[in-house]
Amino acid sequence: MRILNVNLGKRAYPIFIEVDSFASAVKEILRHCDAEAFVIITDENVAAYYSERLKNSLQQNGVKFHLYKFQPGEESKSITTAEQIYTWMLANRFHRDDVIIALGGGVVGDLAGFIAATYLRGIRWVQIPTTLMAQVDSSVGGKVGINHPLAKNSIGAFHQPQLVWIDPMTLKTLPRREIYNGLAEVVKYGVILDDELFEFLEVNFNKIVSLNDWDILVHVIRNCCRLKSIVVEEDERESGHRRVLNFGHTIGHALENITEYRYFRHGEAVAWGMLAAAAISQQKLSLPDNQFNRIRDIMNLLEAPALPHNISVDQTIRSIQSDKKMGKEGLKFVLLEDIGKCRVELVDRDLVEFGVKYLLSIK
Ligand code: ADP
Ligand code: ZN
Repeated sequence: MRILNVNLGKRAYPIFIEVDSFASAVKEILRHCDAEAFVIITDENVAAYYSERLKNSLQQNGVKFHLYKFQPGEESKSITTAEQIYTWMLANRFHRDDVIIALGGGVVGDLAGFIAATYLRGIRWVQIPTTLMAQVDSSVGGKVGINHPLAKNSIGAFHQPQLVWIDPMTLKTLPRREIYNGLAEVVKYGVILDDELFEFLEVNFNKIVSLNDWDILVHVIRNCCRLKSIVVEEDERESGHRRVLNFGHTIGHALENITEYRYFRHGEAVAWGMLAAAAISQQKLSLPDNQFNRIRDIMNLLEAPALPHNISVDQTIRSIQSDKKMGKEGLKFVLLEDIGKCRVELVDRDLVEFGVKYLLSIK
């Protein structure tokens, strides 16, 4: 078993990574949380695969628990679902000492974490992330929240869990597209912070996507959690350094937004965004050509869908502007000096346009 600690003082917590480990998960959760009852929050897909296993382990340990499942998908990350869960929890008289177990991907983690942050002004929670995206990215750092019709992820909190339990075996049932979706964030960690991880991904890409070498997957997941923990420890509430994690996200968000969140998975849009940011880095920070080519090559392996034909440069720039304030002097971008070495730079509008045009020129 691998254990990592996210060192956040009083809010510090461990991340466990172990293959095929639901039984041990429950033992560890019980060691950390002396709850009277547990509230499992999950979605219907994940429940179909994993809720029995979790329930059996809880039962074997003689623990009281309740399960709430909602419809899978981003639409469920809403105030409506949150209200339904609050109502159910209040009606069942869950109190402050009870503990939420978030079992699922990023949607479950964000929503269940938001409920934990707000129910009775905050209760404890643990996370069992079951998508690659959640295992390498969204389960570290305590950002929780829901969407508002006017803006995604706009209502939320920072609420660290008591522990995170990662069982990479759960990826076996995950649709392939979701593996690639998560891999985009994995690539991000290599590109911005760790050239060794990047090289490891280049060498082992096929073994990673075929999910038949657990040591390799544990290595990748552990390193992403380690890198994200370091960043979060330095800047828990995203006032400075944590912004480097937004590499590829400015243009990525714009692409998600103009395709109405229906065409790209988040990681796919970020993959395109990272490629544009790498092209801008070549101009602005002289990212060497060979490094740019390595980034482009790995992006090609991520199988992100092609950009739709009807996207225009203007539309993309407008979407970026409505998301982030672009002053006369430009926009703050995370750029690369090299693979594994990034920094935040002001980029003027022309250069942002250059990056978007580069993407649109790729057939
Ligand atoms: P993300 O983690 O990328 O935010 P979601 O939480 O929306 O994504 O999960 C993506 C999809 O995968 C959802 O339909 C969810 O129900 C499903 N899912 C999550 N984990 C698993 C798993 N281990 N096996 C099968 N399907 C899963
Ligand atoms: Zn992201």
